[in-house]
Amino acid sequence: MKFIDEFRDVELAKKLVSRINQLSTRPTRLMEFCGGHTVSIMRSGIRQLLPPTVEMLSGPGCPVCVTANADIDKAIALASLPDVIVTTFGDMMKVPGSYSSLQQARAADADIRIVYSTQDALQIARNNPSKSVIFIGIGFETTAPTIAASILEAEKEGIKNYHVLCLSKLCPPIMKALLDLGELKLDGIVCPGHVSVIIGSRPYEFIPRDYGVACAVSGFEPLDILLTVEMLVKQIETGKPNVEIAYRRGVNPQGNKTALVLMDTVFDIGSADWRGIGIVPASGLKIREKFERFDAEKSFSITTKPPLEPKGCICGDILRGVKTPLDCKLFRKACTPEHPVGPCMVSSEGSCAAYNQYGNE
Ligand code: SF4
Repeated sequence: MKFIDEFRDVELAKKLVSRINQLSTRPTRLMEFCGGHTVSIMRSGIRQLLPPTVEMLSGPGCPVCVTANADIDKAIALASLPDVIVTTFGDMMKVPGSYSSLQQARAADADIRIVYSTQDALQIARNNPSKSVIFIGIGFETTAPTIAASILEAEKEGIKNYHVLCLSKLCPPIMKALLDLGELKLDGIVCPGHVSVIIGSRPYEFIPRDYGVACAVSGFEPLDILLTVEMLVKQIETGKPNVEIAYRRGVNPQGNKTALVLMDTVFDIGSADWRGIGIVPASGLKIREKFERFDAEKSFSITTKPPLEPKGCICGDILRGVKTPLDCKLFRKACTPEHPVGPCMVSSEGSCAAYNQYGNE
């Protein structure tokens, strides 16, 4: 298959592994920020291929996993209002909130529908003019432009019953927050591929400049990731941290101007609540005042009880990279994909789900 097979070539992979082995002389700790990378690394056994000097940790780049329980509780409360249809990506359905999940709310008669895009949600709003249709807007810079576009489209068409619970989050500010926390001594970061298609590689420049940490943007195939690791190890071994792009077929330094303009038109920067990290200023997107009639938080009045974390679940620590799923006492025991205790076991990009499916431990 074009653009797939050539990035899974075994001989090329062996050559890259051999180069990483030659280059790496000292303990090196890398974080793959993105959950998509964690899944690819686990599926292709990359951790086992790397020399013992190179350690790879998973980061907070799973949009479902980092959604705080307080925000999931809000989505469930919105779904419980009369004449409301909540629309959401499928991964969110099974994620346990503090007291319930969207799936349980649907079983209790709430009208909650799985959609594959904001366009689907908008169509549901067109088809149901007597109901309020709320899209649960989770995700990073990858999905934010499509949410922005849906709001602009709703405005242009005069659709009055479409709303967004805007939980969009931004990657560079949370990378900074993790580095400032100082819990991990990171040498390099595998920067997210899809996010960087939108924002480019420039927003990461503060990382090598201010923290001396190497950066490279990676694609999602095994060779993309090995090439990224090679770039990072080289930067670290030569003492020249930088921002490189190992995903040139998708990413350029300046990003996608059209998408960035869309985001800037509709959103303002605001704080966001991250599971395991808490409220981080300027790490999320808020709907601008000009478009506030589309903002579910401003259009509906809901009350929620104080959020609770699932007992025994260490998703927060896993998302900060300080623990792995193997450190969780509930992993593959009380917590399985069929009966998930925390979001990292639910999401297709969650570390616990990836360790469960591909780990041999
Ligand atoms: Fe949470 Fe389950 Fe992962 Fe443990 S295995 S951290 S309970 S999601």
